[in-house]
Amino acid sequence: MNRARIPFYKHDLGQAELDAIAEVFRGEILTTGDVVAEFESRFAGYLGVPHVLAVTSCTGAMHMALLALGIGPGDEVITTPMSFVATANAIVEAGATPVFVDVEPDTGNLDAARIEAALTPRTRGILPVHLYGLMCDMREIRRIADAHGLFVVEDAAHCVEGVRDGIRPGQLSDMACFSFFATKNLTCGEGGAVTARSAEHQEALKLLRLHGMTKSSSDRWREGWTPWDMISMGWKYNLSNIDAAMLLPQLDRIDRKLAERDELAAAYDAALAGIEGLTIPASRPSARHARHLYTVWLPDHVDRNVAVDRLRDAGVNVVVNYLPIHAMTYYRETLAAADGAFPVAERIGRRTISVPFYPGMPRNHIAIVADAIRDLVVGW
Ligand SMILES: *Cc1c(COP(=O)(O)O)cnc(C)c1O
Repeated sequence: MNRARIPFYKHDLGQAELDAIAEVFRGEILTTGDVVAEFESRFAGYLGVPHVLAVTSCTGAMHMALLALGIGPGDEVITTPMSFVATANAIVEAGATPVFVDVEPDTGNLDAARIEAALTPRTRGILPVHLYGLMCDMREIRRIADAHGLFVVEDAAHCVEGVRDGIRPGQLSDMACFSFFATKNLTCGEGGAVTARSAEHQEALKLLRLHGMTKSSSDRWREGWTPWDMISMGWKYNLSNIDAAMLLPQLDRIDRKLAERDELAAAYDAALAGIEGLTIPASRPSARHARHLYTVWLPDHVDRNVAVDRLRDAGVNVVVNYLPIHAMTYYRETLAAADGAFPVAERIGRRTISVPFYPGMPRNHIAIVADAIRDLVVGW
């Protein structure tokens, strides 16, 4: 057997990132400082939002966003079961309860048409996820939120480059959260960011990011020690200059990398066309897809877990995005959603595989992966 011939992902960081890190080493501040501030300002410019704070993860960003909005025990937050567990976990971290709403059958995104039926007197907000890189219908979600006095926080971990109906993550929501985890489109290994539209929210997030302290250690380094205070409860979510340095050169290449992701996706679309029962998740005509993952949904009669093993035996590494969150043991035990409660998400969860997909991927791998999937499905 030719195991692991086709990798799922390889980062494309190189000399530019090494040079940027070396520059931080030659300076004096390794922790949060001027390089983080430069990244925050450039990322805010890229997104077209007034404020960005860099943090250590998207999970932390979502936790902070919910706390900044005053969410806590007794509150309910509407979200999607078709996501990574971090989305719901952030709601639990804030002390609130996730309330799942099923997803659109063709995209896997939170189905805005189902939100109103899930509202209760305890509902405080909506936390949509832009699955695989396609933005949810944010105009409709914002309209529903405004009609019911709710906040909107976006899990934009997949959607740095996304645009839909002329808007980007962070522009209609109260806050949008990003991940710079190892396999994300923009990465420093571990990291994240949160946007804010108001200066008040930005100030609240700053305190939440660093122990509720009125000064950071680089403020004290710059100004010399002056009295500081802890004025509210805060966490420890600040990003370091070393990590921020890795992100800056990637912002210079971001358009080129997205163009390459588009090209790879188009090549997969063509190579996978005409396989009976195989579904390629839809995009939307008014959207620029951020192309984080290239995911396909296998025919219903194919046993996905067996398919993953067989593809691995054929040398193709694939992953599963996602097993629905409400089916995880912890959420079964705490929320007790019945099997069949979210049938659209559950069906996607039984069928979904994500195939190798990253800028710099050898082009001949696409045909190898597509042929392996075709052989698997046709021969099932
Ligand atoms: C990766 C991911 C997260 C978590 O990001 P971290 O930076 O690892 O906390 C959250 N939501 C989604 C949809 C993700 O893919």
